[in-house]
Amino acid sequence: MNIEAIYKESGALLSGHFILSSGKHSPNYLQSAKVLEDPKRAELLADALAKIIKEAGIEVETVCAPALGGVIAGYELARALGVRSIFVERKGGAMELRRGFEVAKGEKVLICEDIITTGGSALEAATIIESLGAEVVAFAALANRGFCSRYGIDKEPKLECKLPTTKPLFALEDFEFEIYDPSDCPLCKEGSEAVKPGSRGN
Ligand code: ZN
Repeated sequence: MNIEAIYKESGALLSGHFILSSGKHSPNYLQSAKVLEDPKRAELLADALAKIIKEAGIEVETVCAPALGGVIAGYELARALGVRSIFVERKGGAMELRRGFEVAKGEKVLICEDIITTGGSALEAATIIESLGAEVVAFAALANRGFCSRYGIDKEPKLECKLPTTKPLFALEDFEFEIYDPSDCPLCKEGSEAVKPGSRGN
């Protein structure tokens, strides 16, 4: 399956001249939610991710996503794995498990995002789940921005990666983009104007 082509077709992988949430400029941008706009495509991607997780022999009882970005990916992955789907959400700055969702002591939980950038939200979700006594067995995302290293790819994580190296990160593809300082951006030098995409891009 050509993941990059699927992201392009769905309008999730953009080419042009963008201002990232960090303030840096890039010729590419991932609008992750767009790839999940078509439920059939979401199902296809989640099935592929579930297959990798199963083949790695990871036992999962529950998928937990950090809201809002991870919810659809998490739900689809839970369906593909045949397990429960829950999410944590931000309430006054901190992530919490709300809405009557519970985890049991020792329950095997996989944290799922739509995209892992530095993994900050996924790590926060994992910390809450573990504080409630459950066990975080792995992390997963449809796409990986290349700061963290994903299962099956022999590459050191970059300093920006916040995920623990003791647990696997499953993802379908690495999306590493050129990133420029605005003062030294070749696209700016060519005279094009950088645009800010719709969201934070994670
Ligand atoms: Zn620029």
